Parts: sequence; C-alpha cells; structure tokens
Amino acid sequence: MAYDPNNIFAKILRGEVPSKKVHEDEHTLAFHDINPLTPSHILVIPKGPYVSFDDFSEKASDAEIAAFTRAIGKVARDHGLAGDGYRILANIGENAHQEVPHLHVHIFGGKRLGRMLP
Ligand code: 5GP
Repeated sequence: MAYDPNNIFAKILRGEVPSKKVHEDEHTLAFHDINPLTPSHILVIPKGPYVSFDDFSEKASDAEIAAFTRAIGKVARDHGLAGDGYRILANIGENAHQEVPHLHVHIFGGKRLGRMLP
C-alpha cells in the first residue's frame, strides 16, 4: 500500500492537527491517544512515511529503528509504567484492524490489563 500523506498522523506530524505530545526526537513522535482505552494510552510513531511495521522493518534506517525502539521504552519509563508493567501493541493491516495507515505502537498502562490473546 502506498503511503497516504493525508492520513491523520501525517497531519499531526506537520502540525496541521493538534496533539498532546509527550516525546519528540529527530526520528520519532509520541502523543496521547485521543480516545484512551487505559489510564495511560500513548501512541509512538516514526516521523518517516511508513504505513505499517511491515514496511518500516524493511525500509527504515538503523537510526530510525533504534530511535523508535528507544522512544517506546523511554515514554513508558517517563510515565511510570515500567515498574508495574504495560503493554505495547501495533495493529498491522486489515486483519489486525489497523485504522490509521501510519505505523504506530500503542502503549497501554496505568491499570491491571486483561489477558490478550487473538
Ligand atoms: P489503530 O486501530 O490504527 O491501531 O489505532 C489508531 C488509534 O489512533 C486509535 O486508538 C485512535 O483513538 C487514535 N487516533 C485516531 N485519530 C486520532 C487523532 O486525531 N489524534 C490522536 N491523538 N489519536 C487519534
């Protein structure tokens, strides 16, 4: 699937749509989900035009992958989630009900989570 530069996260990256940012670096942005499902529900996205983890894992530079991975851990620690535990999740494509076609990892935490199996 070709990257759609008008998806909502592309607009957030361009500053055309507001977001509650919690982390930003050269390659990565993190912000609160607009419809939080847990007390902490944060989305981490790469700044590059990657539809999903599928093309990110294939096309992103090592620096982008490193920054993305480190940002996820840092955001979780910064929000006090590391001690009690949290969940990271990425929906990839139609079978996983990915709604926004720009790679994003959800960080869920701040409460005891239910077991999650497909
Ligand atoms: P997906 O189903 O693609 O994995 O999740 C998309 C997520 O993006 C949803 O949890 C949804 O609440 C969130 N979302 C959709 N539009 C916006 C928006 O405009 N701003 C923010 N902060 N989150 C959004």
